[in-house]
Amino acid sequence: MPRVKKTANARTDSRREPPRKRPSEVVWPTAAQITSLQRDVFRWFASNARDLPWRHDITPYRIWISEIMLQQTQVVTVMDYWRRFLQRFPTVKHLADAPLDDVLKLWEGLGYYRRARQLHAAAKQVVDHHDGEFPTRMDQVLALPGIGRYTAGAILSIATNQPHPILEGNTIRLYSRLLGLASDPTRGPNQKLLWNFAQAIVPQHQPGTFNQGLMEIGGQVCRLAEPRCDQCPVAAKCQARIRGLQDRIPAPREKRVHYQTLVECLALIQRGDRYLCRQSSDGERWAGLWDFVRVDLTELSTDSGEGFEQQDQQLKREVMTEAIRERTGLTTELESCSWSIRHAVTRFRIQLSSVRARKIRGRVKRDSGFQWLTESELRDRAFNVTARKFIDHYFASETS
Ligand code: SF4
Repeated sequence: MPRVKKTANARTDSRREPPRKRPSEVVWPTAAQITSLQRDVFRWFASNARDLPWRHDITPYRIWISEIMLQQTQVVTVMDYWRRFLQRFPTVKHLADAPLDDVLKLWEGLGYYRRARQLHAAAKQVVDHHDGEFPTRMDQVLALPGIGRYTAGAILSIATNQPHPILEGNTIRLYSRLLGLASDPTRGPNQKLLWNFAQAIVPQHQPGTFNQGLMEIGGQVCRLAEPRCDQCPVAAKCQARIRGLQDRIPAPREKRVHYQTLVECLALIQRGDRYLCRQSSDGERWAGLWDFVRVDLTELSTDSGEGFEQQDQQLKREVMTEAIRERTGLTTELESCSWSIRHAVTRFRIQLSSVRARKIRGRVKRDSGFQWLTESELRDRAFNVTARKFIDHYFASETS
């Protein structure tokens, strides 16, 4: 576990100056309050830090992998993935030398596969431009694919003790409450204000421990619903608590995300003991991952968003049969719809059904990318999450 000194001195340079323009409700802490806040965070973290695998034998590479995996994903989910990943790719060079398919396979189930592709591309860049040593200069780290200001700050502060600030989901909430920021913290000017605050409070000494302490307080104590103010080490300095506004700060996002509904159907085309699949190409959704023949039927769905099962059966069959012939070169006969799910991913709401199809005639087009895979290949290769659910469902019901 990280060793923590009992006190830390706040900087006395211009970084502690509050921004001239800021919302009137915001109360900027004094230099003495910042020093006291640092002490509170260090003291709390020394006895409350969770024992996470990447907090041992700290290196930039190990912290980098953990930070990328933790994006949009909970700590408990990440731990096993991180261990398996580090076992298979113990260094940047191991990662860079591995086929992308192997990286995606280890990532399977973690979601947001773009992270894995960028991780792999960045590892190659580290080997090509930095002799396989993860860079320790901010500009060089920011030049790597998939690394933004937060991730770079976290890696460099935790692994190299450079005093870079951090701002992510948990600390956005924590800082907003400490400052009493009442408006949407994701707005541009508020983001700038919060970055300034993060910069003002990060100490020169043990900045990585301090940053981890802040994130841990944000995640474990200053939760979105029912924050544990009675156990909070910085409660005395929290404007939201002082004014009784914990349930109103942070303010909800002003802009609503617009979700897109997709109605799709997977075709399970079987020849003997093999199944027709294709690896998605660069630029396609789920690039690098495998899928079955997937046909978009969104245009056929009604405004009520009804799925495959409710659509006009004859029309649906004609569209599917034609799409399969066009994409694979095979003429098929469809059997009945056997399985359907709803799945939410990023901004998409996918209504997915499946049909089994029997080949009547034709050969798989050479340039289509489709291949016949055995059942064990279906298990070994990296499939997108809905295709994987389908495989699990299909083969479980086959054997039961
Ligand atoms: Fe969050 Fe409550 Fe602590 Fe304020 S006092 S930082 S709202 S947990």
